[in-house]
Amino acid sequence: MRKSYGSFQALKQIDLEIEQGEIYGLIGPNGAGKTTTLRILCTLLKPDSGSVKIFGYDLTSQADEIRKLISYLPEDAGAYKELTGIDYLKFIARFFAKDEKHFHQMVEKGVQISGLSDRLKTKVSTYSKGMTRRLLIARALMIDPKLAVLDEPTSGLDVLNAREVRNTIKEFTKNGGTVLLSSHNMLEVEFLCDRISLINSGRIVKTGAPQDLKKEFNASNIEEVFTEVIRCSGTC
Ligand code: ATP
Repeated sequence: MRKSYGSFQALKQIDLEIEQGEIYGLIGPNGAGKTTTLRILCTLLKPDSGSVKIFGYDLTSQADEIRKLISYLPEDAGAYKELTGIDYLKFIARFFAKDEKHFHQMVEKGVQISGLSDRLKTKVSTYSKGMTRRLLIARALMIDPKLAVLDEPTSGLDVLNAREVRNTIKEFTKNGGTVLLSSHNMLEVEFLCDRISLINSGRIVKTGAPQDLKKEFNASNIEEVFTEVIRCSGTC
């Protein structure tokens, strides 16, 4: 697919196929096109050309069907600051729950994922950046989407909270969910992702399983692979 903002071509060639049940990571330098790609897949932006199918539904003609199956955590999302954390989770659950029992299960799951325990009783306006992020991750995953699209899910989280969130994401796929995420944290993508794509200047320049990429580049970690691919993608 391709996408321009005015005369600037942000996505030049993005081709990817994500398997159900996998954790797929997009990595790339600032401005490479990761968020633009995620926003298109979440039906928030329209591609200029190309065809996109999500669970068999066409992105342009069946966007409503797709929206029922996905949950999107934006990079810079906020929650309603005047609500308490628990009221925010309940507010969201009301939109998605089939019945009262399902509503309570969803909220309970959100409480557990957030890890915020008693602080859920206080207003979101009093939360730190990391606490807000955990609330939003809870919101994104508690509704059990078929596909969770997470833009830099652990940004702003301390080491322990980031680990918790990574474990939550892994758990989510064990229960049948699929995850597409972006990250600048190479340790994170190596730990989490079944496959990754490196995007540079609006193009996918490399795709593979972290282990395979490390082998191919004779690298000891994904940071080395990243550096080498980005260095080479314009010139080699
Ligand atoms: P980062 O890692 O910094 O979050 P990214 O890979 O997510 O970057 P995008 O946010 O997708 O990158 O941006 C890709 C390119 O498109 C950048 O050059 C950016 O300036 C441009 N861009 C993004 N949104 C807009 C917009 N609304 N209007 C104009 N240009 C935009």
